[in-house]
Amino acid sequence: MSGDGTAPRRLTDLTSTQVTDAVRGRTVVWPVGAVEQHGPHLPLSVDLLLAEAVADGIARELDAFTLPAQAVGARSLPQSGGGLHFPGTVHVTGGTLIDFLRETITSLVRLPMARLVVVNGHYENEPFLFEALDQVRQRGLLDGTEVFAFSWWSLVRDTWTDAEITAFPGWHAEHAGVTETSLMLHLHPDLVTGERPDHDRPPRAGVYLHPVDVDQISNRGILSSTSGSSAALGEKLLRHVLDEAVALVREGEGLLFAQARPDRRSRTGDRRDRAAERRTAQPGGDHP
Ligand SMILES: [Zn+2]
Repeated sequence: MSGDGTAPRRLTDLTSTQVTDAVRGRTVVWPVGAVEQHGPHLPLSVDLLLAEAVADGIARELDAFTLPAQAVGARSLPQSGGGLHFPGTVHVTGGTLIDFLRETITSLVRLPMARLVVVNGHYENEPFLFEALDQVRQRGLLDGTEVFAFSWWSLVRDTWTDAEITAFPGWHAEHAGVTETSLMLHLHPDLVTGERPDHDRPPRAGVYLHPVDVDQISNRGILSSTSGSSAALGEKLLRHVLDEAVALVREGEGLLFAQARPDRRSRTGDRRDRAAERRTAQPGGDHP
């Protein structure tokens, strides 16, 4: 169903008189991105466009609504995004981002949707997004709403990167690297220039440095390698991410009330039956 070119249904195309009934018991997908440098070969909009593409694909397959993407995200850091040395990164501070996301989600979940899926496309957004959601949850505003929030790369299996990418540097260093370049070649080839810079010393994950030697940490904003990028690889990766995302939402794995959702059961009866069989087949796997 994805890739058929049809646009998913946009929540904001509904009227105020339609929206409550339209989203009752349904899924809403919200892409959250960033405006951030992505080297000399990719536009500032990569994290936004990729989050939108994943969100649109999920929405098509789950017959869900999409929300307009949040374009401005958290500050770029040298070890995962090149940092603010490079022009074009538009950001807000972490506290502002938490407030913004929390208040947006708070007003959004007044609608009677069954579940909210948030697709993040910017590495540095993730902790602030999770914090915002947890603040909304602590206020009791997510009672009865399922939430799936993830960065799209978190759904990529290690077996996929092992099979498809030579010397995978870790997702923190995949900034403007082979995966983002390939996805952009597949989705928006008109926005990709011909340069393919490589950086042979990707940063280590989870290390904060000060002061930073900008010329050492990246090659013109690229933290790892772009060699080997292709539209075909991007298409394969997008398919993999969408398969994983749709399975995650349909199975409701780890959710307390995943089994009790009538809309989930009716659309995914076969999958749920198989999942239930697997659980009951395991000793002690049938606990409530
Ligand atoms: Zn990016």
